[in-house]
Amino acid sequence: MLAGKVVMITGAARGIGRATARLLAEEGAAVGLADRSPAVEETAAEVTKAGGRAIAVTFDVANPEACARGAAAVRDAFGPIDVLVNNAGIVDNVASIERMTHEAWTRELSVNLTGAFNMVKAVVEPMIARKWGRIISISSIAATGGLHNQSAYAASKAGLVGLTESLTLELGRHGITANAILPGLIGTENVRERMPSELRDGAVRFVPARRLGEPLEIGYLIAFLASDRAAFINGAAIPIDGGFTLNMLPLGSRKEIVSLLGPKP
Ligand code: NAD
Repeated sequence: MLAGKVVMITGAARGIGRATARLLAEEGAAVGLADRSPAVEETAAEVTKAGGRAIAVTFDVANPEACARGAAAVRDAFGPIDVLVNNAGIVDNVASIERMTHEAWTRELSVNLTGAFNMVKAVVEPMIARKWGRIISISSIAATGGLHNQSAYAASKAGLVGLTESLTLELGRHGITANAILPGLIGTENVRERMPSELRDGAVRFVPARRLGEPLEIGYLIAFLASDRAAFINGAAIPIDGGFTLNMLPLGSRKEIVSLLGPKP
C-alpha cells in the first residue's frame, strides 16, 4: 500500500511508534525513525533485519533546529518525505492545576504540540512543491473530554486537533491531507508496565470491548491514512478507542469514572 513512499515517524523507539514503523516498512515505505532515545536504533535494526528500509535519527522534537536536521538526514537517505507521523509524546506530568508547575506545563506543550509544529515546518515545503503529502498526528481521546490532573496533556492533544484542522485548510489545495488520530487506552509498554493497575483495569471496564487497544491497531489506521486511498479524508479527528468515550458520556458512568480517575479528596 505504501511502496515508494518515504515516511518519517517521531517517537519510534517504542510503543505505537515502533509498531507503526514495522508495519509501514512491511507495506513498502522507507522509514525515517526519530526519537530522543537512542533505542530508536533498535527499531531501525529490526526493520532492516526484516528486509525493510530504515534510518534512525536521535533528537528532541522540542528543538526546531534538531527537527530540521533530522528531516534533512531522512531526505538525504531516502529522498523527499511524503508522510509525517507526529507520534512523539510525553504523559508523565500528573498534577492538579494548583500543583502543576509552569515548567512542567511548558515542557509538555513543547514536546506534544510544538514538537508537531516543528516537524511540520521541517517537512512541509517539499510536500507543497511535490503536490502530495500526508500529515498524521497522534492526539488522544483526552483532546475532547479533558483529563483530571493532566491539564497540560489534554491541552496539548486538543492543540494537535486545532493544528491539524488549520493545516487542512491551508494545505488541502496542495494535495496534502492532515488528520489526527485520537487513541483510547492502548496496551503499550508504558500503559501495561507503568500505569497503576487499578487505573488501567478500572478504565478497561468502561471499554465496550473490555480490553486495551493494541499498538498495531493504531498503526493500521496510520497506514490507511498515509495511503493514496485516504486522499479525501482531510481534517478529521478519528477516535480509535473501542467505544470507550461513548461510555464516558452518560452521567452515571461519568461519575463513576471521575471517582476512579479523579483527584482523591
Ligand atoms: P511511549 O511513551 O511508549 O512512546 C513515546 C516515544 O516518544 C518514546 O520512545 C519517547 O522516547 C519518544 N519521545 C518522548 N519525548 C520525545 C521528544 N521530546 N523528542 C523525541 N522523542 C520523544 O508512548 P505510546 O504509548 O506509544 O504513545 C505514542 C503517542 O500516542 C503519544 O503521543 C501518546 O500521547 C499517544 N497516545 C497514547 C495512548 C496510549 O494509551 N498508549 C493513548 C492516547 C494517545
